[in-house]
Amino acid sequence: MDSGQFTAEPSSNDTAEREFDVIIAGCGPTGAMLAAELRLHDVRVLVLEKETEPASFVRIVALHMRSIELMAMRGLLDRLLKHGRRRPVGGLFAAIPAPAPKDLESPYACLLGIPQPVLVRLLEEHAVALGARVRHGGTVAGFEQDDEGVTVELADGERLRARYLVGCDGGRSTVRKLLGVGFPGEPSRNETLMGEMEVGVPPEEIAAGVARVRESRQRFWLRPFGGEVYSVVVPAAGVGDRAVPPTLDDFRRQLRAVAGTDFGVHSPRWLSRFGDATRLAEHYRVGRVLLAGDAAHIHPPTGGQGLNLGVQDAFNLGWKLAARLGGRAPDALLDTYQAERRPVAEDVLDNTRAQMELHATDPGPRAVRRLLTELMDIDEANRRLTEKITAVGIRYDFGEGPDLLGRRMPDVEVARGSLYGLLHRGRGLLLDRTGRLTTGGWSDRVDHLADPTAALDVPCVLLRPDGHVAWVGDDQRDLDGHLSRWFGEPTG
Ligand SMILES: Cc1cc2nc3c(=O)[nH]c(=O)nc-3n(C[C@H](O)[C@H](O)[C@H](O)COP(=O)(O)OP(=O)(O)OC[C@H]3O[C@@H](n4cnc5c(N)ncnc54)[C@H](O)[C@@H]3O)c2cc1C
Repeated sequence: MDSGQFTAEPSSNDTAEREFDVIIAGCGPTGAMLAAELRLHDVRVLVLEKETEPASFVRIVALHMRSIELMAMRGLLDRLLKHGRRRPVGGLFAAIPAPAPKDLESPYACLLGIPQPVLVRLLEEHAVALGARVRHGGTVAGFEQDDEGVTVELADGERLRARYLVGCDGGRSTVRKLLGVGFPGEPSRNETLMGEMEVGVPPEEIAAGVARVRESRQRFWLRPFGGEVYSVVVPAAGVGDRAVPPTLDDFRRQLRAVAGTDFGVHSPRWLSRFGDATRLAEHYRVGRVLLAGDAAHIHPPTGGQGLNLGVQDAFNLGWKLAARLGGRAPDALLDTYQAERRPVAEDVLDNTRAQMELHATDPGPRAVRRLLTELMDIDEANRRLTEKITAVGIRYDFGEGPDLLGRRMPDVEVARGSLYGLLHRGRGLLLDRTGRLTTGGWSDRVDHLADPTAALDVPCVLLRPDGHVAWVGDDQRDLDGHLSRWFGEPTG
């Protein structure tokens, strides 16, 4: 990143409703999280969401450790816990049965299962409470960018202006397509039907039928979901047009083809279809337009990582975009978003490719699965794969330095309670055991906690607003260089 001279973003005219600092296309988990992160820094943000109603599917998604930590860092975790169900971290990679690795450094070492629409609602409420504006029924249909900003055109012809546009509009992203950014990768080869419905046969008959099919197939289940309702997953091979929503008859036909019976399914709650396409955007940023979440990367849901990846993109991007808008940071700070997050997505795409192979039922993949199952007894192997899925193993490349540099800071104890409790406002933090250092001209954006009792085995760490370690040391001049690198020019 260039820490040299830079100019502040020109301030936009305050023409009330039509001009914003940032317009976000899409109020899924990524867009809602990004809006909230931007509001922590008073950025005027509008989220345009094409749907007028919440999603009809109520699929339960897994929030993994790093996302759970991020929710704790913003004071959101208690709210989420009320709506989710916790389960231990273990058996995450390709569902290979394995216990949680020893000594996972986090009090948040669990998986939180939560219905996606509930999570989206909570994140949207959080963003709105912080002052974000969300417009439902607003579809981004076009845009043009120039040196000062982006003019966004809605499907109804309305035009709005912002200094940046972020496409958080999902895998079929309009923003990405209009931007002309390539989305290379593999097309979907395995389509799957997923839904919730009632069944017409006794539970024992279902259990026996499922066990028989699963001897030779992984992508198949009927799981009790509560009351009479079952969650049903069955391959979609042969079911017509993927752009058309599946019907109950499609489910019946596929169940009969795979299991020899349709288990008397009826009264569907919701029906959906998904594929295993794996693609990564060539660029995350073109000028004043950026991409985040599924708009930038798609992959099969194995391991439950897509939503986590998107939420973490938002955490990485929010404070950088805010710093740029506030005129405190060079344009190059925004480029670190792609430099840091694209390799993370590349790694997730690779691990899902590997997991998909391990789910195959041919003799070769089954042999590899048996071998890997054996290797999972080695704690270090289990840890490495668990850290990939949970995203706690990420280390951004901040240059030479101790192992902690570039990693996420675990929630350590400090005299004032928990470290994450000090990060709710999304500011930087200097955690200083020496008591000799100062944040000087950066104190308007970086907090300083001098605490000789902090549970650190290094003298001081400088944390970015996303909780990653930006510096480790005890020298003021060195610290100043890093404050300037990540937080821009000092004031005063
Ligand atoms: C079966 C299944 C299970 C999954 N399980 C997990 C899991 O356990 N854990 C996990 O991390 N991930 C999981 N995922 C993946 C996860 O659902 C996605 O990665 C996540 O929804 C991506 O969030 P997003 O906000 O980036 O995009 P989306 O959720 O797709 O949101 C995009 C939003 O943009 C809106 N939009 C689209 N176009 C426009 C436009 N032109 N203008 C305005 N708005 C627009 C859409 O209406 C939508 O609300 C699963 C996926 C599937 C299919």
